[in-house]
Amino acid sequence: MAIISSKQQPPDPNLPEDIAPTPRKKVAKPQTESLLESQELPDEINNKQEDKIRPQRLAEYIGQKDLREVLAIAIAAAKSRGEPMDHLLLYGPPGLGKTTMSLILAAEMEVECKITSAPALEKPRDIVGLLINLKAGDVLFIDEIHRLSKVTEEILYPAMEDCRLDITIGQGKSAKIRSIPLKPFTLVGATTKVGSLTAPLRDRFGLIQRLRYYEIDELTLIVQRTAQVLDTKITPEGAEEIARRARGTPRIANRLLRRVRDYSEVKNLKPIDAEVASLALELFNVDPLGLDWTDRCLLTAMIENFNGGPVGLETLAASTGEDTQTIEDVYEPYLMQIGFLQRTSRGRIATPAAWKHLGFVSPKLF
Ligand code: ADP
Repeated sequence: MAIISSKQQPPDPNLPEDIAPTPRKKVAKPQTESLLESQELPDEINNKQEDKIRPQRLAEYIGQKDLREVLAIAIAAAKSRGEPMDHLLLYGPPGLGKTTMSLILAAEMEVECKITSAPALEKPRDIVGLLINLKAGDVLFIDEIHRLSKVTEEILYPAMEDCRLDITIGQGKSAKIRSIPLKPFTLVGATTKVGSLTAPLRDRFGLIQRLRYYEIDELTLIVQRTAQVLDTKITPEGAEEIARRARGTPRIANRLLRRVRDYSEVKNLKPIDAEVASLALELFNVDPLGLDWTDRCLLTAMIENFNGGPVGLETLAASTGEDTQTIEDVYEPYLMQIGFLQRTSRGRIATPAAWKHLGFVSPKLF
């Protein structure tokens, strides 16, 4: 959990008043922070309504134009050859549509999709059982694939390459390898950390695709589509207001929409327009740009303690109580995407836009 440094630096007396940072009161981490988390929340796992709002076909999948184009070609080619599609690795932050794309792929190929995740494949028999039970052409989706154990990974190599399971029988010198043929299948691996994949595993994927954060207009369409599925009336402006706070992430956009829908129903304020969306999200402490408590804490520390930077990652981590990996993987990508943070060779810099958003007056040197 992030703890903001209690050692506040007093404003620099040498700075003229108009560029000295405005002293800010520290606020406690709000309980509603999880609304802006890109991971699935416990009540969203295996939730029927979640399945209902997932796009089912490629044509319903909004955004990620490059990914859609590449997959449309790969699907058409595989279908015309009557073969399963090449193994596919999808990488990018949580909540951007990797599982959804895997399910769509299976639907388009008219096969089944078996979903699992690396932590569930602890023992060799877990992956062996799954592989043996796949029917010809099926899609096997493995989430968090960078977390596979070495032995599971080694079982996957011949399975991916030659549709073969190599099983060692016996031990020591008398050990023998028996090969069992498998039905051809497509492995879809998903990861938030493509750099953590071993090279032999990465090399066995024919297609490697990155998912990027969504633009506001794309998220607006996603909110409108979900509202339609949920039978909720929303104006384009209302949808945009939600989209703007969704951190570029469809999972967050859909979650915020559900909270706004509750609010509009209870208060009988229908349809959801920009004002209703904004009132509801303010109530839930959702920042107008979707920044959460930790984002604000990082930026505030950079501005108040380091005059906006450049500040080294280690120093920033030490002064906020976050670990360097979480800052790099979870927080920085979105802050960079909205132009609030820059990574430079000398360290991290909070941009003038970040100063302004947090109510500070930025120094004139920018
Ligand atoms: P990931 O596997 O990357 O964590 P998911 O595929 O589970 O993300 O997507 C999270 C939610 O966001 C899904 O329930 C789905 O409804 C929605 N979603 C994701 N991508 C899209 C998209 N391109 N268009 C519409 N909805 C999407």
